[in-house]
Amino acid sequence: MKKIMYSSTNGHPDLLDFKEALLTGQAPDKGLYVPEDIPQLSRETMARFPEMTYPEIAFEVVRLYLGDLVPKNDLKAILEDAYDFDVPVERVYDEKYLMRLDRGATCSFKDFAARLMGRLMQYFLRQEGEDMIILTATSGDTGSAVAQAFYGLENIEMVVLFPEKEVTGRQRKQMTTLGKNVHILAVDGKFDDCQAMVKQAFVDPGLDRLNLSSANSINVGRLIPQTVYYFYAWSRVGMEDLVISVPCGNFGNLMGGLIARRMGLAVRRFVVATNENDEFPQFMATGSYKPIAPSRKCISNAMNVGHPSNLARLFWYYGGKMDELGSVHKMPDLEAMKKDLFAVSVSDEETRKTISEAYNRYDTLLEPHGAVGWAGLMRYIDEVEDWKPCVSLETADPAKFPEEIVKAVGLEPPVPPSISRLEKKEEQFDKIGKGYSTLKENLKKLFG
Ligand SMILES: *Cc1c(COP(=O)(O)O)cnc(C)c1O
Repeated sequence: MKKIMYSSTNGHPDLLDFKEALLTGQAPDKGLYVPEDIPQLSRETMARFPEMTYPEIAFEVVRLYLGDLVPKNDLKAILEDAYDFDVPVERVYDEKYLMRLDRGATCSFKDFAARLMGRLMQYFLRQEGEDMIILTATSGDTGSAVAQAFYGLENIEMVVLFPEKEVTGRQRKQMTTLGKNVHILAVDGKFDDCQAMVKQAFVDPGLDRLNLSSANSINVGRLIPQTVYYFYAWSRVGMEDLVISVPCGNFGNLMGGLIARRMGLAVRRFVVATNENDEFPQFMATGSYKPIAPSRKCISNAMNVGHPSNLARLFWYYGGKMDELGSVHKMPDLEAMKKDLFAVSVSDEETRKTISEAYNRYDTLLEPHGAVGWAGLMRYIDEVEDWKPCVSLETADPAKFPEEIVKAVGLEPPVPPSISRLEKKEEQFDKIGKGYSTLKENLKKLFG
């Protein structure tokens, strides 16, 4: 099998294999790792997907990126262990489907990436006899998914930063009730502050000996697992060319879809749905990119991102170049982007209305993120005739956002066991101010 190498979107000359890129996280020039070649899935392999389980499909997709780094049987065991939950693809009406990516340990789609990434990191670290500290910033769902995925691993310590006032009680509890190797810091600031603090830690030579790595959507180990469910969706709705709507924050989810498409998946168009943080839809409309700082506080809080880190990958995908600060060094092929992507921004008001309409008309319960995707899809269908069949991604369980659900439909969403177990558990976390120096102090306090 051809060995895929990974390079930095900022142009650093070093090429890394998957193991090195996974354990490094962010490239030394602050770029994001991307595969040098995108492998192809053969039609014959894909034709077998409808009869295959999720972990079996994942095996066919993921192995292409690992080459010989993980022997077949080890990879199969890792995937069976990581993906031990359902992935429902529900018909809502006509040929409109909803794929629920919310049945994992923390009830968000981030479980797909975090669980596999955690297991692969564990696998490689054990091989090397190394220890590592995972440092990550979350706007709500990443931190909990990653903390759960890494909880209890012996060669990994985990530090999660979250914006104190921007996550729900349930999102917080999924992180703060773990303990052991999981350390949680509540930052008096916004998600972008948290992300900036983490990014600075990675380039601080004073912390080199801590062996820090990221688990954000910047890690290539998050990207590859997120290509799999696009193939899965296609295999479950009759193997036809799809329109897929993706609710977007840091654009990692969308990148998974785009890579799946280049691997051979038939996707006619992606609906790229953001909340009121509309820097990307604006870019598509005007050709000029302006990050939004500070990010706007919307009810789909995991998507409150004013400068999505994966835009660097999106620009790379379309032949452009954007650095980590959002400066455009080379314009991507905007015409090709417009052909592939239909970008929309959905207001909080429209999000709430969508939750209530989907429930009242179609008996389908959505939460704010999935509702942004669904609203985007409805707008696409209004404007473009060729939409059948289409799949919208539901990225979290409504039970994670009970206040909004009660407001929109007057009903308490049913609480899955993974969440109800947390209600009585004790929380542990430290509160810190924003700014890099407070993070550095805390890391020194934790790890000496
Ligand atoms: C993280 C997240 C998103 C956004 O995904 P990106 O990959 O950052 O675009 C959407 N919905 C939920 C529930 C999330 O947790």
